[in-house]
Amino acid sequence: MGRKDRERFQRLRDSNPDYVGYRGLDTVVTVQAPSAATETVVCSVCNRKRNVASDSLPEDISTFVCLRCQEDSGGDAT
Ligand SMILES: [Zn+2]
Repeated sequence: MGRKDRERFQRLRDSNPDYVGYRGLDTVVTVQAPSAATETVVCSVCNRKRNVASDSLPEDISTFVCLRCQEDSGGDAT
């Protein structure tokens, strides 16, 4: 961007606070929502790795059973 363009951009921005320019949106700081901490745990039934919220883990993670296996064992088994 040349000097003249920069000055024009500056003027536009000064007269219009909403004007963000051709790259203004890139400079907007995106606030990331705090996500719950997860841990990768191996299910003791299916031996698959699962991402599980830390606060929903059993004390002994070797006994962890993933939701899918919990559903499989608890449902109407035919
Ligand atoms: Zn499982």
